[in-house]
Amino acid sequence: MGCPYTRRVHRFTEDTAELGRSILRYAAERLSLDPVPLDFSRTVEELDAVAGGAISSEGIGGQSALRLFEEELALACLSIDHPRYLSFIPCAPTREAAMFDLVVGASSIYAGSWLEGAGAVYAENQALRWIADLAGMPEGAGGGFVQGGTIGNLSALVAARATARANAARSRDDARPYRVAATAGSHSSIASACEVMDAELMPVRLDAQLRLTGDALREVLLREGPETFFAVVATAGTTNLGVIDDLESVAAVCQELGIWFHVDGAYGGAGLAAPSVRDRYKGVEQCDSFIVDPHKWLFAPFDCCALLYRDPALARAAHTQHASYLDVLNETPDWNPTDYSVGLTRRARGLPFWFSLVANGTDAYTAAIEQTLEVARYAADQINQRPYVELVREPDLSVVAFRRVGWSPQDYQQWSDGLLQRQEAFVVPSSHDGETIARFAIVNPNTTREDIAAILDSMNAA
Ligand SMILES: *Cc1c(COP(=O)(O)O)cnc(C)c1O
Repeated sequence: MGCPYTRRVHRFTEDTAELGRSILRYAAERLSLDPVPLDFSRTVEELDAVAGGAISSEGIGGQSALRLFEEELALACLSIDHPRYLSFIPCAPTREAAMFDLVVGASSIYAGSWLEGAGAVYAENQALRWIADLAGMPEGAGGGFVQGGTIGNLSALVAARATARANAARSRDDARPYRVAATAGSHSSIASACEVMDAELMPVRLDAQLRLTGDALREVLLREGPETFFAVVATAGTTNLGVIDDLESVAAVCQELGIWFHVDGAYGGAGLAAPSVRDRYKGVEQCDSFIVDPHKWLFAPFDCCALLYRDPALARAAHTQHASYLDVLNETPDWNPTDYSVGLTRRARGLPFWFSLVANGTDAYTAAIEQTLEVARYAADQINQRPYVELVREPDLSVVAFRRVGWSPQDYQQWSDGLLQRQEAFVVPSSHDGETIARFAIVNPNTTREDIAAILDSMNAA
């Protein structure tokens, strides 16, 4: 009985077992490549030619589909974990985290509620606790893992606004707090969150070291009326330059004026685990909310952002979705991760990170982060020593921004294109204050001093 389609696709047959072996072989081979090829992008036309008709009414079978991916599509994806991929913010998962992602996929876990995913949610919360301890957040802190910093920031700001509005209503204040204060160094996702929320992003000037400080913040808040703001966003490691804002003075002003203090550590938050830079984050422990992306500098695969609140009840009040079919979940005191962010259904995306933390131990994380910082310091030293390049700014963390003396924007682009063409490195130009610059984002512990020296050498040629 049953339709033949169901039997073919949903039953575990000898063919399925064979496919399973092929997929595990592929995954194991991919993870063992050292180094993995950088590979190239391709055009839609090129991909149409090899994969355009792949979806058919009959299906081509798993082995053929895997072959199509392996031989064509995979080669048209850059390897973000290549040691010389230094653009944007790379992702260099531990082998354990990357492999365990397969297990999460195979396990059909619903990690939105405790009722359905208790084991996974428990483990994720342990990993969150490790991060909360690094940030010095209190015992009651909690939250969840979301897709990325963009959703993490949006979710934190939604909780901040709901809290400010509830407080304003309680004090019968007519004000409807609608503003967020941040600097031009804050990530584009803050502006995007304000767009989504129809909030106004009020810029605060940077100090000489390109940081947000309490003094500049207080000036703006008092000028505009502190009651019109529902959040201040400080960045612990800006994406373009790696700047850590003066968190301590910003925290003090937020405390004084009663405004939610959000710290965006999507990239830089991982540095909390590194003793050599830990003191630069003083004040982070006073935050109302905090994010860090384990898919950036904590060696987890895409996509994974840890979102933490000092008082999770405030986030729950803002985010819990109510519907008759969900009452059975909401009417319990259980910890349901979905109540702390935008979104309902969720993958246990914190589990690969948890697995790797348990397997490797937290000391290995500290050592790996320190290793990347050490290579970043080497890069800064080399740039200071070589006459044809100069630092835009002494790095706080592992982002190193610098200029090639005498180069036009076209020179940077040609150099960058050439590096990829020759499969030597992937380093795209960035800009600062209208000037085109070069930038290394070093989060891969396999990136070596030799890699850095070779890329700097390539800027001197010709
Ligand atoms: C990367 C980044 C984000 C956005 O995170 P996604 O995971 O890409 O959504 C936000 N803030 C900072 C500081 C970042 O570096």
